[in-house]
Amino acid sequence: MILMLLGPPGAGKGTQSQLISERLGLPQLSTGDMLRAAVKAGSPVGLKAKKVMADGGLVSDEIVIGIIADRISEPDCAKGFILDGFPRTLAQADALDDLLKSKGRHIDCVIELKVDDTKLVERIECRARETIAAGGTVRADDNPEALKTRLIAYYRETAPLIGFYYAHRLLKTVNGMTPISDVSRQIDDVLNQFQHA
Ligand code: ADP
Repeated sequence: MILMLLGPPGAGKGTQSQLISERLGLPQLSTGDMLRAAVKAGSPVGLKAKKVMADGGLVSDEIVIGIIADRISEPDCAKGFILDGFPRTLAQADALDDLLKSKGRHIDCVIELKVDDTKLVERIECRARETIAAGGTVRADDNPEALKTRLIAYYRETAPLIGFYYAHRLLKTVNGMTPISDVSRQIDDVLNQFQHA
């Protein structure tokens, strides 16, 4: 099964895709995590992505499409995977379709996590404060300026994907404003209906 989680920064895509990954035994493919690992490792991709990520902008389509193309060719993706943070632009969505078509595969379900903007800002500020209190390192893009840029990038580039996948009859919307366990239950309901369909 190929699943995708769609939603603004701070909607809980990472948390929920990890839970689905554990439940279904499918790998979680987070382009954000992969890019942060590349930045940390100082690889050529990481060097290109570092500043744009810290500023809250989008890394080039070419880079992220390349990363995903390589990753979905790995053996652990043969039985399916969960996309978290990809695609983020229509060009990425088209490239994904082409990639999957060339392998005779297709997206099974796109889950939209719907969350109010005020809640997103609160969550991200809270995540930064908790990280500081725990003595951890705050993400370079969890600051008010970068957050504004991330939200703008989301509404300009990513939000159109909701209509796009709706039109493809792949979209299922869940309320992302409820506690983690409840969001997870709503997603389970969607996946159950889906598996019994
Ligand atoms: P969040 O969903 O909290 O904004 P992510 O961890 O998914 O964060 O991504 C962090 C950053 O990585 C993004 O702001 C962007 O700079 C970059 N990034 C991740 N995925 C993509 C993508 N598919 N296309 C372009 N840039 C991406």
